[in-house]
Amino acid sequence: MPAIVRWSKMSILLGALVVGLLVAAPAGAAKPTGSAVEDDNFTPLVARVQHAPEPVRGGDGREHLAYELLVTNVALFPPRPVTVRKIVTLADGRPAATLAGAKLTELMEPFGVVDEKTPRTTIAPGGTAKVLMDFTYPAGHKPPRRLSQVIVASPTRAGSVELSRFPAAPTRVVDRPAPIIAPPLRGPGWVVVNGCCDANTSHRRSLLPDNGALYEGERFAIDFAQMTSEGRIAEGSNKVLGNYPFYGDEVISSTAGRVVGIVDRLPDRPVDFELPPGTAADAGGNHVVVDMGGGRYVFYGHLMPGSVRVRVGQRVTVGQTLGLLGSSGNSNAPHLHFQLMDGPTPLGAEGLPFRFSAFTAEGTLTNFPQFFVLGAKAKLADAPRGPRRAELPLNLQVVDFGP
Ligand SMILES: [Zn+2]
Repeated sequence: MPAIVRWSKMSILLGALVVGLLVAAPAGAAKPTGSAVEDDNFTPLVARVQHAPEPVRGGDGREHLAYELLVTNVALFPPRPVTVRKIVTLADGRPAATLAGAKLTELMEPFGVVDEKTPRTTIAPGGTAKVLMDFTYPAGHKPPRRLSQVIVASPTRAGSVELSRFPAAPTRVVDRPAPIIAPPLRGPGWVVVNGCCDANTSHRRSLLPDNGALYEGERFAIDFAQMTSEGRIAEGSNKVLGNYPFYGDEVISSTAGRVVGIVDRLPDRPVDFELPPGTAADAGGNHVVVDMGGGRYVFYGHLMPGSVRVRVGQRVTVGQTLGLLGSSGNSNAPHLHFQLMDGPTPLGAEGLPFRFSAFTAEGTLTNFPQFFVLGAKAKLADAPRGPRRAELPLNLQVVDFGP
């Protein structure tokens, strides 16, 4: 091991020499002063955007640009843990939002984090963290053409050659309207579980490795579970599949299109809130994938075994029954996992935004863990309420899709 340490120190020395030469050369070649080109600067972190954001109007009436930063600790002088203090988002070059404090702690997560004690905003040497970003602006405004960030990291030592405040992760914004589609379910009381955008949900943090690349297929995904008219998720014990009144509800096509993927061979899982991980291929359970055109695919997951009513290659219409709501695959309890994506498989694709043509907002669930895990009566915040058009209902909104 000591030999390796010595060698790595030598590598850094050699690297530094090369940099010295590179810096020296332009000076000798009379570099023009007042150049608009930014000087080179060492930074302890580097960052990139996982996927260029596309705007979507949320159920709060604001436009949302949901994207993820991947921040890697590359500190060299010396290698050390680095803490992110603040992330300022610039819209077309102008500071427009700041993520810091408790919200940064909530939305930042190093890869490999396993428990509540893991520091959320400190990245180990060589480590990478994800930051779940949600840039919003008023409805009806044009989206910025570009977003970029300024990262403020823990201060470097006096005399350090590394900056502690630096620009990072520029991205274009994809200016195309999110498609308006029909709801995949009927009736009132559907809770948008793990929905978009500014919460660290199991969907938003699901940057998953698939066949050697990283994807965020579940960026805008929703787990739909329905509350009874008494405001509970089950009638009687919520440990029994058959006690969920919406178990077996018809799942209907949100779009016209062609069926390109089906699985219908997996059993429904018993209710289990401490589910062990399964394989990637089985995660979505029994499911249907519909190619709606324009490079967009719709995924309906965790369907009841033997319930799929369509076949691969079949054309479907809006409202056509695809299968029945179940609890197969990576599912704690009955629900429909619904998402749009840019490829035909749920994990090996990037999640895309969508809007439902119409729904009635019934409020926002405020006691999700008690409601879902313990079977407690739902507590609802009053807003937003009333008829909504062409919006993506956001995390823990409760919606009525009508008959
Ligand atoms: Zn899900």
